[in-house]
Amino acid sequence: MNHPISGYILTPQGFLWGELVLSDEGRIQSLTGDLVDESRVRDGAHTIVLPGFIDLHVHGGAGRDIMQGGDAMQVVSQLHAQHGTTALLATTMTAPTHDLEMAFCAMRDVAAQPGSKGARVLGVHLEGPYINHGKLGAQPDFARAVEVDELLRLHALFPIRLITLAPEVAGNMDLIDGLCKAGFKVQLGHSLASYEEGVQALAQGASGFTHLFNAMTGLSHRAPGLAGAALAHAQYAEIIPDLIHVHPGAIRVALRAIPSLYCVTDSTAAAGMPDGDYRLGRHTVTKCAGGVRLADGTLAGSTLTMDQALRNLVNEMGLSVSEASARVSTHAANYLGLQDRGHLSIGSWGDMVLLNRDLILTNVFVEGMSIDHPHAA
Ligand SMILES: [Zn+2]
Repeated sequence: MNHPISGYILTPQGFLWGELVLSDEGRIQSLTGDLVDESRVRDGAHTIVLPGFIDLHVHGGAGRDIMQGGDAMQVVSQLHAQHGTTALLATTMTAPTHDLEMAFCAMRDVAAQPGSKGARVLGVHLEGPYINHGKLGAQPDFARAVEVDELLRLHALFPIRLITLAPEVAGNMDLIDGLCKAGFKVQLGHSLASYEEGVQALAQGASGFTHLFNAMTGLSHRAPGLAGAALAHAQYAEIIPDLIHVHPGAIRVALRAIPSLYCVTDSTAAAGMPDGDYRLGRHTVTKCAGGVRLADGTLAGSTLTMDQALRNLVNEMGLSVSEASARVSTHAANYLGLQDRGHLSIGSWGDMVLLNRDLILTNVFVEGMSIDHPHAA
C-alpha cells in the first residue's frame, strides 16, 4: 500500500479535501474526501494538489536546446519536471534536414533509455521549417514549404504530434487535410496569413494556433489577420503567459474569446539559468532581465517555467486556481486527446504537483514517482 497524499486535491468535480492513493504502477488508485469550496483552498497551511503541468512547446532549459541532440532532451525534461511539468512536447526549430534528423535520432535514443526522473516526453512539436520567411521570429531562415517525405522520415525516428505551419506558403494549404487525416495536429503560426486564409486552414482541419499573437498577423479592424481568425473561431490556442511576449490585456482578450486557450512556455536553453548567452537552434541568444533576445532585440523564446505560468495567471491575472490549472494542464491534454493525463481521476496517471498556499512547488510526481525522492511514492 502506497502512502496517501492528502490536502486539497483538484478533481474534475472540484476541490476535494481528502486523500489520494497511487497504485504500484503509478496511477491513481483511490480518491476519498469531501468536496469543498475553492475559496477555502488557500486559507490554511495545507497542501494543494493539482494535475501535473503539460507544456506543448519546449525548446530547452538548463542550458540545453533540443536541437543540440545528445542527451539534451533528458536534461531539458528534468529541468522542467523540477518546475512541475509532467509531460511535454520536445519542440524543434526551423533547420536544415540534416540538423533535424540529428535531433530526432538523439530523441529516439534518449527515449529508449529507462527512467530519467524527467517529464514524460510525449513526442515532438515540429515548429517549422514549414513557415513563412517573413515571420521567422527567432527561427533561423531555413523556412520552406511542407515536404511530406521529410516529415514522414522524421516521424519514423521519433513521433511528431504537432506541426506548426504557415498556411499561406505555396502548397501548404492543400496538405493540411492529409496531414490531419494522417494523425498529426496542425497549428498555424509563424505566418503572414490573412484572416481569410486562417479560416480556410481551419476548414481544412487545422486546429490550433502557435503562441497566439506572436509571429503572426495581428488583429486590425479592417484586416483581422491570423490572430483575428483565432479569436473568432478557435477552440484551442497556445499562449505564452510570461507577461513579456503578450500584454496582459491581450491575454484577457484571448481568455474571453478562445474557450480552451492553454499555456506554453516556449522556453529556451536559458530557462532555469543565470543571465548570459545560450544556443537556440543555430542562433546565439542572450538572457537578460527575464527576456531572451537575438542581437537585434527580437524576442527569442522565453525563460518561463510552468509553475511561474500558474502564478502569473493567478497572482497577476486574477484567475482562480482551478481555472489556471485547466490552462496549464487539462486543456493541453484534451487537445492532444490524452485520456489519462491533465486531470486527477481514478485510473489516471499519477502526474501531479504539490504546492503550498503561495503556489510554490513542494513536490512533483511523474507517473506516480516523486522526482525528488523517486522511491518515496
Ligand atoms: Zn515560435
